[in-house]
Amino acid sequence: MDLLILLIVLTVAVLVTATGFALSHRSRGRRAEAERRVVEEARRAPTPRAPVQPPRPAVEPEIRPDLEVLVEPGAAPEPEPEPVPVAPVRPRLRDRLGKARELLSGLVGDMRSRDRIDDDTWDELEEALLRADVGVATTARILDDLRRRVKETGASTPDELLDLLKTDLVEQLAAADRTLAFVPGELNVWMFVGVNGVGKTTTIGKLGQQQAAEGRPVVMAAADTFRAAAAEQLELWAKRVGADLVRGQEGADPGSVVFDAMSAAQNRGAALVLVDTAGRLHTKVNLMEELKKLRRIVDRTPGALKEVLLVIDATTGQNGLVQAKQFGDAVDVTGVVLTKLDGTARGGIVLAVQAELGLPVKVVGVGETADDLIEFDPEEFVDALFSA
Ligand code: GDP
Repeated sequence: MDLLILLIVLTVAVLVTATGFALSHRSRGRRAEAERRVVEEARRAPTPRAPVQPPRPAVEPEIRPDLEVLVEPGAAPEPEPEPVPVAPVRPRLRDRLGKARELLSGLVGDMRSRDRIDDDTWDELEEALLRADVGVATTARILDDLRRRVKETGASTPDELLDLLKTDLVEQLAAADRTLAFVPGELNVWMFVGVNGVGKTTTIGKLGQQQAAEGRPVVMAAADTFRAAAAEQLELWAKRVGADLVRGQEGADPGSVVFDAMSAAQNRGAALVLVDTAGRLHTKVNLMEELKKLRRIVDRTPGALKEVLLVIDATTGQNGLVQAKQFGDAVDVTGVVLTKLDGTARGGIVLAVQAELGLPVKVVGVGETADDLIEFDPEEFVDALFSA
């Protein structure tokens, strides 16, 4: 009996073990099958790609026009460029024509506020031009011309009248040649004439600076040997602007100074001789004879004398016109330098000089420093005179 029980137990144990083995074998097979499927699926699946990066924005290289090189972004900053020397600012007539602008811009304001042209309009215009130093003859000519233009165009308001006047003045002034004659490779002589105190020496200093800056070596000739102070003043300017100076003893022959200056210029390869002359002698006749003599000395080198510039102080008004006539008769004047247009000058003398003497105003002085000399620009001048 005991043996039978033992046999049964053993049989059960064997059965349980066999079943467990079979189960575990099946589950292992299933797991293997699952793993195989995963591998197979993975094999068939598309090859995974690296995550797609958003495209990097294309960065334009920075262009630095001042340096004219390309600077890659992120590169070490370029050192600051050397500061470029700044050219002196050209003075504007508009800012300097104090008195002249005051006179005419008041008239402009009054006239523009009205709506028709009548006798009063013409009277006011005439008075303003006379007060601005335009002179009787030139004023009459300007107004005649304006009446004709008003008829032709049918202008009916003071506004239109002023615009016609401005156009007329610019046209009259623009007709002249204002260039300062200079021929490269030749000896060029510019003579400056005019009464004492008008600004001859100062103008030579200013022009000397401008011409030297343009690469034209300058020799200054102190041919006013009658006043030691004149030569000393010119010497100061020559030092200031880096020009050579030729001067004589007080009372020396001005002709020999001019002759020496021209020789020195030729020897040193200088391009331009600026001749300062006397503005006053015992008599006017003496002065004019002296200037004629100087002219003849320069003329010994044919073609060297390129300009005889009459310097007129604009504040002397119509008196400047009288001087211009006297000097013009003695030495052929080629153009006018109008100085002190910044002061109490009324400006109209510019129109009178050109209309009555046929002489172009070539440059104007608008202050006492070396930069205060500007080419005369008719449009700028008329605009400055008549703008409010
Ligand atoms: P010069 O006798 O003809 O040689 O005259 P200067 O050159 O000695 O000038 C006489 C005075 O006028 C000096 O005090 C200058 O500074 C001054 N001057 C010259 N030109 C001008 C200018 O355009 N404007 C002003 N306000 N003064 C000027």
